Amino acid sequence: MNSVKKNIENLRNELHLHNYNYYVLDKPEISDYDFDMKLKDLINLEKKHPEFEDINSPTMRVGGVILKNFKTVKHEFPMYSLDNSYSKDDLEDWINRLYKNLQDNDLQYLCELKFDGVSINLTYEYGKLIKAVTRGDGEKGDDITENIKTIKTIPLKLRGNYPTKFDIRGEIIIEKDNFFKMNKKRLSEGLEPYMNPRNTASGSLKLQNSSEVAKRPLKCFLYQIVSSEQKLKTQNEYLLNALDWGFNISNTYKLCNSINDIMEYISYWDKKRNNLNFEIDGIVIKVNKIDYQFKLGFTSKYPRWSIAYKFKTEQISTKLLSVSYQVGRTGAITPVANLEPVLLGGTYVKRASLHNQDQINKFDLYLNDIVIVEKGGEIIPKIVGVEIEKRDVKSEKIKFIENCPSCFKLLSRKEEEAHHYCLNYNDCPPQITGRIQHFISRKAMDINGIGNETIDLLYNNGLISNYADLYNLKKEDLILLDRMAEKSVENIFIGLEDSKKIGFERVLFALGIRYVGQTVAKKIAKEFKYINKLMSASIDELLLVDEIGERISESIVEFFSNKENIEIIYKLKNIGLQFEIDKSSQLTNSILSGNIFVVSGIFTDHSRDELKNMIEINGGRLSSSISSKTNYLLGGDNIGPSKLLKVKKLGIPVISENDLIEMINLKL
Ligand code: AMP
Ligand code: ZN
Repeated sequence: MNSVKKNIENLRNELHLHNYNYYVLDKPEISDYDFDMKLKDLINLEKKHPEFEDINSPTMRVGGVILKNFKTVKHEFPMYSLDNSYSKDDLEDWINRLYKNLQDNDLQYLCELKFDGVSINLTYEYGKLIKAVTRGDGEKGDDITENIKTIKTIPLKLRGNYPTKFDIRGEIIIEKDNFFKMNKKRLSEGLEPYMNPRNTASGSLKLQNSSEVAKRPLKCFLYQIVSSEQKLKTQNEYLLNALDWGFNISNTYKLCNSINDIMEYISYWDKKRNNLNFEIDGIVIKVNKIDYQFKLGFTSKYPRWSIAYKFKTEQISTKLLSVSYQVGRTGAITPVANLEPVLLGGTYVKRASLHNQDQINKFDLYLNDIVIVEKGGEIIPKIVGVEIEKRDVKSEKIKFIENCPSCFKLLSRKEEEAHHYCLNYNDCPPQITGRIQHFISRKAMDINGIGNETIDLLYNNGLISNYADLYNLKKEDLILLDRMAEKSVENIFIGLEDSKKIGFERVLFALGIRYVGQTVAKKIAKEFKYINKLMSASIDELLLVDEIGERISESIVEFFSNKENIEIIYKLKNIGLQFEIDKSSQLTNSILSGNIFVVSGIFTDHSRDELKNMIEINGGRLSSSISSKTNYLLGGDNIGPSKLLKVKKLGIPVISENDLIEMINLKL
């Protein structure tokens, strides 16, 4: 064999093995440094020799593939859900049905944890991972193979004596400690914390850029082999073998011979689950013998050979001591219940969010009420009820505040909104610091060296009162502050200087205009190109932009009608921040330029996003509503009748997806 090829293959095999030792067996044999060096060698060799490409190389773990849409793929074997049970009686019923069907009174069961994550189906052929598909509706799911390859507990290449072709199912999770770390980081960046590990795992898997997925602490537990040819005799053997083939199999499963064994396993894990570093929402009981699994088969929804036992969500009563109110950066008021501390799911709960006034009204809360607290998604506790019979008649009913707890201005609540707002935009302290904290956060200006606490500190010392003031800070101001070392001060100045290179769309996001998130900021930056044009845009002009509705348009116009905001923007402009789109990055391909398209209806050959993308990369513009300025309606099936009437009245041509493709190919 060619010696380079051999070298590459050796490195690949070595890295696959070290990966297995580290992530599955938890027994690393080389240092992280040595691992990184070998990986680097492999990356270099692969770059030089693309002819030896391998889509399952360990270098695929770093990601780098960007996908706009995930392909929908049909599962070879449908992914069923599980029937649920909640008591010993339920389980006895299930077992009796098994006896009746199988005529065997000596059944063995394999009990496993029910991992609370995102289920995934992995397909292996000749020992290589070739496809990873989400559960979807059970029949079809999304092909997320590229993202899955970045998860190090999933083998790309198997070891030992594996079947030629099979599927294996498992659950992608984020461990509790990693989840807390992620949230700590988000909070320090002024971002909303993630709700719970499961949703975060699920969101991570749907990211379009696989190198972003590679940064998320995702792990995978595997638990079920699916194949038309079953070579092994029991579920237990399959798990043992799968471990040898390189899969991450939790060692928490147990073989049980009776209902009492099963109940013992259940109560053990019900008590111990808080000590696990990942979340489970029950246990799964499976008939151990594979022959029997085949014989029992499936109902339309569930396997008959398996059942889930769901743990009760832990609830506990405690006293409501008081309600405090937090002011967010947009002025939104969130009521928070302060509780008598109580142990729930392994942690002390002292506070629970009450969301908004409607929530308080729903429970008709009084001070000192005994409330029932539950861990929603196991992380953020919520109040789910109140023990009215225990209410002290002398207690005071909780009345939502009328004035801002910080600046004391009267609060406002619009009919269509759930939250109360403090409208004192310019002078309400938590809104001011909240905006500055948003401005410096990672997805906005990403100013290294400053954290949220520093912002509070600077504000409280009268050194800043808006984000433009950050750029006027002097070294001697900072050095006097508590806990500020020379080095930290230096970092702040470097961070501020670097932020001048950040592109217009992110600057726009950083301004913290209500409802202008990253996506909207990108859209309007592209559409208006420089700040003055955006500042003078009317609501009607904004509404013409694709996906910009009334709520956003109104908020943008309101933001720029504030004199103080305008002054701050001019200051930032003078300082050197980017307030126009980088001209060099503008599109050169402009076959459709000067044409405004409205896309509506359901299409057969392309998704709506694909079509919109085609229009934009060819220089066309998108709008969400039809007006006299619209040049074409790109229409699929089921266009609303009012839209059709409007284009007819205005004489706007309706084109199909084929027409569009022709336009792009033939030029207009
Ligand atoms: P449910 O979503 O409540 O119908 O429960 C079915 C889901 O539980 C399956 O689709 C799997 O994603 C998940 N699950 C978690 N752990 C296991 C396990 N050990 N065996 C089978 N399914 C499991
Ligand atoms: Zn206020």
